Amino acid sequence: MSTISPKFDGRALINGKRVAAADGQHFECISPVDGRVLTQVARCGATDVDAAVAAARTAFDDKRWSGKAPAQRKRLMMQFADLIQQHGEELALTETLDMGKPVKYARAVDVNSAANCIRWYGEAVDKIYDEIAPTPSTALALITREPVGVVGVIVPWNYPMIMASWKIAPALAAGNSVVLKPSEKSPLTALRLAELALEAGIPDGVFNVVTGYGPEAGSPLALHMDVDCIAFTGSTRVGKQIHVMAGQSNLKRAWTELGGKSPNIVFADCPNLDKAVEAAVGSIFFNQGESCNAPSRLFVEASIKERFLEKALKLVPGYAPADPTKPDTVMGAVVDKIQLSTVMRYIESGKSEGAKLIAGGEQALVESGGCYVQPTIFDGVTPEMTVAREEIFGPVLSVLSFTDTADVVRQANASVYGLQAGVWTSDLNKAHGVARALRAGTVHVNQYDEDDITVPFGGFKQSGVGRDKSLHAFDKYTETKTTWIRIDSPV
Ligand code: NAD
Repeated sequence: MSTISPKFDGRALINGKRVAAADGQHFECISPVDGRVLTQVARCGATDVDAAVAAARTAFDDKRWSGKAPAQRKRLMMQFADLIQQHGEELALTETLDMGKPVKYARAVDVNSAANCIRWYGEAVDKIYDEIAPTPSTALALITREPVGVVGVIVPWNYPMIMASWKIAPALAAGNSVVLKPSEKSPLTALRLAELALEAGIPDGVFNVVTGYGPEAGSPLALHMDVDCIAFTGSTRVGKQIHVMAGQSNLKRAWTELGGKSPNIVFADCPNLDKAVEAAVGSIFFNQGESCNAPSRLFVEASIKERFLEKALKLVPGYAPADPTKPDTVMGAVVDKIQLSTVMRYIESGKSEGAKLIAGGEQALVESGGCYVQPTIFDGVTPEMTVAREEIFGPVLSVLSFTDTADVVRQANASVYGLQAGVWTSDLNKAHGVARALRAGTVHVNQYDEDDITVPFGGFKQSGVGRDKSLHAFDKYTETKTTWIRIDSPV
């Protein structure tokens, strides 16, 4: 058990200061671990968003950050990353209490990834050169990248620090000012990140946080006439509204990282069945199944399905939910009572539509007052069932079987989503051919957990527009400018 006991302050952070919502409204931040109230959080609205955007605009225009040399911004971002690491225990426990994930992963994955992301973009920014175009010698054409200005960031609750840092790190490194709206279900670590940025020396007004509900605080940000870019991660339903709001207002650049229902295809010639089973089970139950890229549709070749599921069922007890503040817990609480009832509704739909429940299917640890779901597996799922089509965002695996390669690729692609996919086979041709045929932003071959800040992350189809991570993310937060200079050469 951690010896840290974090103090929570749910006020917004605007222009370097903690502030209550302008109209004094707030809401309770309830822990899914045991139902306790952690603190009151500012219920910001349009007035607060206006104040945050004005602060961000002033900071951008007076160049207190945008005008710094890239090497200076780098130095401050490195200090910011160091402070995140120094406060790693506190941030991890805050994340766990706020949204239910096991504290050991909050520390090892969420805190480390957030700090690493901020460090990586800080390190990158003074090593990127602009371009000179190969024009005739009578002119010089400079192609330069400039920060877009004020970036609005709206993120979900499943990886609050990581989702925020994937956007604020490239946006800040490029010289923009940011207004971040975290999810109302997990606002606390975003506020601490912004405080640590201030402590690192990133000036007032450069990184603001408005807390509150989507329609009340998120929409005014997406509709704001003085926001130049909106970077969103969340559901496809809200992501579509974000693009509409961008179009309805000032045609701000809109980038969306949205939902998924990722297929994971295991062929009978899979090189290591045990590894495939571990990855299939581990990836859907990690983070309580609340991962956009979770391989929630498992396609197993019919000839090995029985053996595969026998092995899978042996692993399930290892994912029994437990108190996520305990150091050994691997499966914690789902984020809140609403998500709990959504997941239970999907489980009921699986049962009523004829899928075969072979593991879990019930709520767990009810007496704790928290929100826990047993790791759940449905066999005998068919493509038209709800559990095969819709994103559940909970620890529920849907197992389908196949006999034909072309048919399984067709089924895998028969989704509105296209975030990630997995392929397991020893046949090099099959691996490359199927990977190429899958309509997904990332395809994993013979593993499902490789990840690195150096590679783009995002989806095809309704999984969103644009990519987080890697140097490609800078494209989202910079404008390309061409400057023509006439050369009347005297020689
Ligand atoms: P959500 O769309 O309900 O909410 C996301 C954010 O949008 C929250 O901050 C919320 O307050 C805000 N919001 C809600 N309504 C809004 C509105 N009308 N205007 C502006 N903002 C609004 O999603 P969620 O339940 O928080 O997160 C789960 C979803 O996020 C899943 O679909 C998951 O797949 C997706 N996700 C995608 C990625 C990715 O990289 N593709 C990563 C993580 C999560």
